[in-house]
Amino acid sequence: MLASPAWGRRLAGIGIGARGREAHTLSFDAYEACGLCPRRCGAARAAGAPGVCGMTSSLKVARAALHYWEEPPISGEAGSGAIFFSGCPLRCVFCQNHEISQGGFGAEVGCERLAQMMLELQAQGALNINLVTPGHFAPHVLAAVRLAREQGMGLPIVCNTSGYETPEVVRALSEVVDVWLTDFKYASPELAGALSGAPDYPEAASDALALMMGSVEAKGGRAEGEDGRMLRGVIVRHLVLPGHTDDSVEVLRRVWEIAGNGCDISVMNQYTPNERCRTAGGELARGVTHDEYERVLDEGDDLGFERMWWQEGGTVSESFVPGFDLTGVLGPDASPQGEPPEEA
Ligand code: SF4
Repeated sequence: MLASPAWGRRLAGIGIGARGREAHTLSFDAYEACGLCPRRCGAARAAGAPGVCGMTSSLKVARAALHYWEEPPISGEAGSGAIFFSGCPLRCVFCQNHEISQGGFGAEVGCERLAQMMLELQAQGALNINLVTPGHFAPHVLAAVRLAREQGMGLPIVCNTSGYETPEVVRALSEVVDVWLTDFKYASPELAGALSGAPDYPEAASDALALMMGSVEAKGGRAEGEDGRMLRGVIVRHLVLPGHTDDSVEVLRRVWEIAGNGCDISVMNQYTPNERCRTAGGELARGVTHDEYERVLDEGDDLGFERMWWQEGGTVSESFVPGFDLTGVLGPDASPQGEPPEEA
């Protein structure tokens, strides 16, 4: 039984900063020598060579189902239609979804099947289509969303990303993305290097966030439905890590400089040490303390964030991690790939 996280919201208000937007798109040629994420590792994915993200050009998905544990504007009561993509360009040591992000679990599907998943989630009553870590499959995602739209899919598209994106991918996905649900994990290149092997993360995430803000503004700015669901906007997520609140404070300051109250901010305390972190010991082997979390929330208040989502006590749980069992993925052309995750 999955536990429901308790979200709180601090105050309300709307404000959008002014930034420009350019139109771009991506073709499947991007898989020839891949530069779809800031690693730009150049993998010949189309020829079957996986990149640092672990993926070739074969689209892989691990789960497509209603998801109830995102922020209230995303999940609401009805649930978000979450589609979890296999692989990930970041290699976070504390990853909660490592079975799919680093273990490669998932099933190979085509664009048509991905579009069909979106239509099926719409039929199930999803509030939106929530694409979880889609950037390394951006050409497929663009094609599938266009196809789903042609076939009657009318839900907002949420891009649920680590924030480690190239400007090219953000600009291209802006064609179809209504809501950016983006992490901002680190302000320190040293910490980003130590925990995700990506010292360029702060710079990449900053540039990506500025483009996301511009994309939303160009479409008319933040919007929500009468039921409170976000129809268009940016939510910046930050997961507080134990022992690293100084960096969390710097993250909030950086987000404030870039987006101000044009974005919602979500400060999360749900960090749960995975087996790797428990085994390694040190700060990442424990949860975030009440005082650590409060320090970061206080900084958010002091900066002036008007829409700040936060999590009430008792949310530290592996129950946030959905079961990766190919729910909603398998169609007539799909086949299981990789090792199935171990039972929790
Ligand atoms: S998306 Fe994957 S293959 Fe492409 S540059 Fe990033 S890590 Fe390399």
